[in-house]
Formats: sequence, structure tokens, C-alpha cells
Amino acid sequence: MTETSTDIIIAGGGMVGAALACALAEQGFTITLLERREPGLQWPPDSYDIRVSAISRASQNIFHNLQAWPRMVQQRVTPYEQMRVWESSAMVTLPWAPEIHFHAADIGEPDLGHIIENRVIQGALWEQMQSLKNINIHCPASISGLELDEESPRVVLNDGTRLRASLIVAADGARSSLRDLAGISTGGWAYDQTAVVCTVRAEKGNQSTCWQRFMPAGPLALLPMDDELFSIVWSTTPQQAEELLQTPPGHFNAALTQASEARLGKLSLIGERGAFPLRLQHARQYIKPGLALVGDAAHVIHPLAGQGVNLGLLDMAELTDVLVRARSKDHPLGSPHTLRRYERARKGENIAMQGAMDLFKRIFSNDMAPLHLARDLGMGLTEHIPPLKNLLIRNAMGTLGDAPSLARTSPQSAKH
Ligand SMILES: Cc1cc2nc3c(=O)[nH]c(=O)nc-3n(C[C@H](O)[C@H](O)[C@H](O)COP(=O)(O)OP(=O)(O)OC[C@H]3O[C@@H](n4cnc5c(N)ncnc54)[C@H](O)[C@@H]3O)c2cc1C
Repeated sequence: MTETSTDIIIAGGGMVGAALACALAEQGFTITLLERREPGLQWPPDSYDIRVSAISRASQNIFHNLQAWPRMVQQRVTPYEQMRVWESSAMVTLPWAPEIHFHAADIGEPDLGHIIENRVIQGALWEQMQSLKNINIHCPASISGLELDEESPRVVLNDGTRLRASLIVAADGARSSLRDLAGISTGGWAYDQTAVVCTVRAEKGNQSTCWQRFMPAGPLALLPMDDELFSIVWSTTPQQAEELLQTPPGHFNAALTQASEARLGKLSLIGERGAFPLRLQHARQYIKPGLALVGDAAHVIHPLAGQGVNLGLLDMAELTDVLVRARSKDHPLGSPHTLRRYERARKGENIAMQGAMDLFKRIFSNDMAPLHLARDLGMGLTEHIPPLKNLLIRNAMGTLGDAPSLARTSPQSAKH
């Protein structure tokens, strides 16, 4: 039986795992990346991925600092300058509409963020990984065993190969098998909502604006792509989601246009529809001796504010800082002393964001009259208090607080 050694093993080559591999390899670590299935890196130019992400400024900085951003721009990224959030119907007539309008110009920014297809993000990061000599990719790889200790943790593959490292990172998503093998449990609950996703053409064009309408069954988000296209994330009851998936395109278009109050004119489906049951999930620990969890392996949140992968990217950027610092002090990469710094930096922040999204989801899914009125008042007030509005938008952009090196503005500012 062969046994090979590397500095860091990363299980999972999704957006977070692939970004982490690039970041650590750029810092001179040797990396073994294990990915269960070959990602599709080629697609017809006129097709669209129904999975997209709203990418914050902090995440854009990370991609930029990893040299993956130009590769994404070459494919397709859509900046958005405005965001409009509104309620299904006002409870009473107020002096203002229950609506918030964010504009990049209000905070002196060229845009509020970018909408990018997940396959474009993953593809750019995989190309970058393939250009780095110190990353060894095993794909498809199937993990059957995990042996943890702080000096020399190991994974065992199905074919009997044993891989040893100073640290193993689980970036293998919400159903992380490494997390299970390590005996780390999760807390959380399933939401009574499923997100229906698809791409549509809008009669009035995309207007460089993200739109979100809150309805009792869940939020409808319209995320701009190309000139006339939107990616749709329509969170609703599992029953309605099933109907929306099964109904003929003409009926779907009518229902969607009505749900968006025809603010963008008629909406017409292009391509397939998909559905994702929504849940909140949080790993009780992010670390064990020799192991760290990042991204959805550690936390899964409601997509209503498009923060899931943005949080995962901050995890990987923070872990990179922690490991570079540990190496400079000759501390073992997998020791609890080293890894605790990572857990302390990220766990509280992720739980706070999860809690905030959970609260939003509950407040906006409840049609009790006092709550409805409070929402209408809250939205109207937020719209008319610019400092509060600016704080909210800066928070969503990830530009508040003490960001990890890779998330800071320019490539030159990244710590080496
Ligand atoms: C409808 C919807 C809309 C969303 N919109 C946004 C948004 O706008 N903005 C945002 O920030 N987030 C959004 N999210 C969340 C975002 O998609 C996730 O947070 C993100 O995909 C997590 O990335 P990850 O790399 O941690 O995990 P994943 O994307 O799940 O990647 C895990 C990888 O690990 C591989 N893998 C799994 N098991 C193993 C194994 N045993 N061994 C090896 N490899 C393995 C998988 O094949 C996969 O490649 C949305 C989510 C949903 C459901």
C-alpha cells in the first residue's frame, strides 16, 4: 500500500476548496486536492448555468488576489449598480413606499457586487489550480477513511491509497463526509421552503439592478445577467416549488411575471429549471486536531441575501492567514493552538450572519398584521436614513470590519 505526504490535503474542489488550494499553493505549501467528480469546465457559449452567486466586494478581492478574476471576466461576470427590495403589499398607506433602493453611487462605489455563474467561478479557479505546480489534483477521488492527529493526519482512498499531511481541510460541502468521519455533529433545521432556480429573459432589460420581493411564502430574487437576462431564485413552499417545476413554460412565465409585479415587463424562461430544498446547518466544531472545516461543510445559510459562498471564501482567506502565520512561527499546522485562531475568527461571524438571515426569513414569512406593519415601517425608515442604509450595504459587500489579507483591496496588500 502506497503512502504519500503533502503539507495540506483539501477534500472538495468546489468554489471554496479550489480557492483555498490556490491561496495556499501561492504561499508555497504543497497541496493535494481530492475531488469526487470531474467539474464540467467546457460549455456552449450561448448556455447559462442556473446556479449563480452574488459575489461581494470582499470575494471579488479574493479572486483578484488569486489571479482568477481576469479568467472570470473573460467568461462572463455581471456587475450590478442598484438593488431594489420591496414587500408583497403594503399593510396601510404610509407616507413612503415599503421599499428600499440601494445605489452604488450613494457610497461612492462603481457597483454593489457581481452576479457570476458558479461554473464560471469554479472553472476559473480550476484553471488557476492547474497552472500551479505545487497542487496535485486527484479526481475522481473517493475517501473511505480518516485518521486524525495533530502531527500527521491521514486520509485513505477507496483504492487503498493513504495520503498523509500536516493538515486536512474539509471543503466537501453541506453533506461533508469528512465531517462525519471526524465525528463532528451539526445543528440546524430544514426550512419549509425550496428555491426554484432558472434563467429568464426580461422585456425591460436588466437595468443593472438586483430585485428582491418578499412574499409570505418566501423571497423572489431576480439577479441580473447579460443585458436582458436574470437568474431567478424563487424561494417558496415545497408544494408550490413542485408546481413551478412541473407547469408548462407559458404558465411558469405568467406566474413569475405576476410574482415580480411585472416590474421588468414580461419574463420568459430560457432553458431548464432546478430546485434546492433550503436548510440552516452549522457544525458544532470547525476544527479537530489535524482537521479544519471551511465553507458549506461548516455552515449552510438561507440564500435570501446571497451570502453562503461569500462566507466560505472568508473562511478560506482567514485559514490562509492563520496557516502562513503558524509556519512563520514554526507552529504545527494541525495543532489545536494553531487552528483555534481560525475557529475563533470565523465561527462567531458565520453564526451572526446565519442568525440574521434566519430572522429575516421568519419576519418576512409571517403575515401577522403587527409584523407586517413593522416591516413596512422598517423598510420605509431604512430607506430614509442614509447612514443606516449605507451600513447595511457595506456589510453585504464585506467591506466592514477586519478582513483577512486576501479579501482586502489590492493584490499588493495581501500578506506574504
Ligand atoms: C439556490 C441557492 C442560491 C445561492 N445563492 C448564493 C449567492 O447568491 N451568493 C452566495 O454567496 N451563496 C449562494 N448560495 C450558497 C452557495 O451556493 C454555497 O455556499 C456554496 O456553493 C458552497 O461552496 P463550497 O465549496 O463550500 O461547497 P460545494 O459547492 O458544495 O462544493 C463541495 C465540493 O466537494 C465535492 N465533494 C463532496 N464530497 C466529497 C468527498 N467526499 N470527497 C471529495 N470531494 C467531495 C463536491 O463534488 C463539490 O465539488 C446559494 C445556495 C443556493 C442553494
